[in-house]
Amino acid sequence: MRDFVVLGTDTDAGKTTFALLWLALFRQRYAYWKPVETGPSDSERVRQLVPGAQVLPPLRHFPHPVAPPLAARLQGQTIPAAADLARNRPSHSGPLLIETFGSPLSPLNEDELQIRLLQQLGLPTVLVCSSAVGAIGRSLQCLRALSCHNLLPSALVLLGAADDYAAQQIIRHGPVSQVFQLRPPASWDVEGIARASREQQQALTALAATLAPPSQPAEELLELDRRLVWHPYTPLRDPDPPLVSVAAQGEYLWLADGRRLIDGISSWWTILHGHRHPVLMAALARAATEFDHVQFAGVTHRPAVDLAQRLLRTAPWSGGRVFYSDNGSTAVEVALKMAYQFWCHQGEPQRTRFIGFANGYHGDTFGAMAVSRDPVFFGRFEPLLLQADIIPLAVEALEAALSRWAGRIAAVIVEPLVQGAGGMRMHAPATLRALAELAAQHNVLLIVDEVMTGGGRTGTLWAYQQAGIVPDLICAAKGLTGGVLPLAATLVAPRVVAAFDTEERQRTFFHGHSFTAHPLACAVAEANWQLLPPGPNPTARRMADFWERELGHLRELPHVVDVRICGCIAAVEVRAEGGYLAAVGRQMRRTCLEQGVLLRPLGSVLYTLPPLGTSDEALAQIAAAMKAAVHAVGPHAS
Ligand code: PLP
Repeated sequence: MRDFVVLGTDTDAGKTTFALLWLALFRQRYAYWKPVETGPSDSERVRQLVPGAQVLPPLRHFPHPVAPPLAARLQGQTIPAAADLARNRPSHSGPLLIETFGSPLSPLNEDELQIRLLQQLGLPTVLVCSSAVGAIGRSLQCLRALSCHNLLPSALVLLGAADDYAAQQIIRHGPVSQVFQLRPPASWDVEGIARASREQQQALTALAATLAPPSQPAEELLELDRRLVWHPYTPLRDPDPPLVSVAAQGEYLWLADGRRLIDGISSWWTILHGHRHPVLMAALARAATEFDHVQFAGVTHRPAVDLAQRLLRTAPWSGGRVFYSDNGSTAVEVALKMAYQFWCHQGEPQRTRFIGFANGYHGDTFGAMAVSRDPVFFGRFEPLLLQADIIPLAVEALEAALSRWAGRIAAVIVEPLVQGAGGMRMHAPATLRALAELAAQHNVLLIVDEVMTGGGRTGTLWAYQQAGIVPDLICAAKGLTGGVLPLAATLVAPRVVAAFDTEERQRTFFHGHSFTAHPLACAVAEANWQLLPPGPNPTARRMADFWERELGHLRELPHVVDVRICGCIAAVEVRAEGGYLAAVGRQMRRTCLEQGVLLRPLGSVLYTLPPLGTSDEALAQIAAAMKAAVHAVGPHAS
C-alpha cells in the first residue's frame, strides 16, 4: 500500500469529509496528514471525529482562513518550496492519506501553485468534487488542468446526492476512468461519520482497490518469476534479480520495496512523454468504451484511419500509405519484404540483397537480424540469415557496396542520426543526406528505421527530417503510442505503393499480424501524435543543451572514449574490454540504481534517453548518477 493524495476541485469540494469517511473505515491502515493548513484545523477535526485515527502534525498551520502564502505572510512567514514539503513527509511506517488545500491551482507559496507539490509527491491521487449543480463542469475543468501537468487522478469522488448522469458525463469527457459516488454523513459527530462510512463500505473498498491493488509479497513473486518466466536479453541465471515494479507515473517507477526510481531509458525507449500520461490514458479509457480488438483484414475502424492520416501528414510525400504491425521488428520486417516485392513487381526479382550498417540494430526477427548482423546478438544465427551486406556507416563504403552489387540491391536500411542498440553511435545529418543521395543515384530504396528516434527524441519529429531527405519507407514503433501499447507503422512512399496498386491477387502484400492496427493502440497513438510538435521539438533540444553542460566535461577523463549527445539522448562511452558484454556495464547500472536512477548500459556505453516530460530535478539526478557511475569505473576508483 502506498500513500495517496486527496485533491478537491475547489475549496469546499469535500476533501476532509472524504478523509473522515475513509479513516473511519481504514484508520488501522492509513494515517492522516495535511502538510499545510490555514484557518480552523482539519487535522484537529479529524482527530475529534475519528477517534483512534493517527493524525500526523501539519508542517505549517496559519490561523487566517485565506490562501496559504497570504496566511503565511500575515504571520511574517513563508511556505517552503514544494520539493521541501514533499521531502518532509513525516516518518510513519504505514501509508498516509495526504490532504491538500483548495484546488490544484491554488497558490502554494510565493512562487508555486499547489500542482507543483503534487508533481513532487508523485503519488496516486483522488479528486473530490461536490455533486451539487455544476459538478460536470467543475470536475472536467480540474481534470483538464491536471492533465496539462501530466497528472491523472486514480479516481474521482462525487460527494453529495447521487448523480448518475454527472458520473457518466465525467467518464465520457474527462481523463478519468473511475467515478465513485459518496454521500456525506447525516450527522456530523463520531457516530454519524462511522455510520456513513459503514454504509458506504463497498464503494470505499472498491476505491481502495484502485489505489492499491492486492499484491503478492515481492519475494514470492521473484521466486515464481525465477522459476516460470524467461526475460529478454537476460541469462536465465542472472546474478541481478529483476526489480519488482508496482507502479509507474511520469518519469518514475515504484518498486515493491518502496523505492522510487527515475526511468532514465524510458522503459526500453518506449515511453515518450512520461508514464501514464493523462491524455494517453484518457484516450485509452475512451477507446475501451467502444473497442477491444478487431481484425484488420477486410475491416477498418476510425482510430486506424485517423492515425494513418495524421502520420502521413508528417511524411515527406503527398500520398503514400501506412501499413500497421505491432513492434519495431515487424515494422522493419514489413519494410524489407515490401521493398523486395516492390522490385519483383518491377520485373527485377534478382534484387535479393540489402545493405545495412555496422553497429546497426533493427530488431530480432530474421529479416531484422539479417540487416544488422550484430555479432554478439545474432552471430549464432548467421547460417540462417538472408543476404545482406553490413558496411561501415560511411559514404565511400556505401558507394563501393552499391557498385559491387549493382542491380542486386533491394534497399538500404539506416537508423537515422543515432544507432541505438549498437552503442548510441551518432552521425551528422550531412552524412545521412549523402547516404540517401547515393541510394537515390543507384536507384535503390531507402528505409529509415525510426523505431527509436521517431517522436521528437532527436530534436525533430522524425530524425531523418534534419537531413532534409525523402526516404521510401519509414518504420515507427516504440514511442508511436507514447509507450502505452505495442503498435508499429511502416509508412510507405507513393512510388512503392503504386507498384501494389492493382486488383491482381498475386500482387497482394501477403503479410499481417493478428493484432495489426489494434484499435486501442491506434487511438492512443493518435492522441500521442497530437501532443507532438510537427517539426523541431524544443524539449529535446533543451535536454541536449542540459546534457552538454552536465556531462560534456566527462570527455576530459582519460578513461572516457566519448560523450555523445543528440536531443534527449546522452551517452558516455568508457574504455573497457568486451563491448556489449563488458563487465563495467553491470557496475555502472548498480551505481545508478544506488542513486535512484534506472539505466541499462550497452556494455561500456552508459546512456540515458529519458521521457520528454522528465522534470529538471530528475534530469539533474540522472546526470549526477551518470557522473558517479563513470567516476566509479575510472582508473583511480577505489
Ligand atoms: N529498430 C530499432 C532502431 C530499434 O532500436 C529496435 C529496438 O530497440 C527495433 C527496431 C526493434 O523493435 P522491437 O523491440 O519493438 O521489436
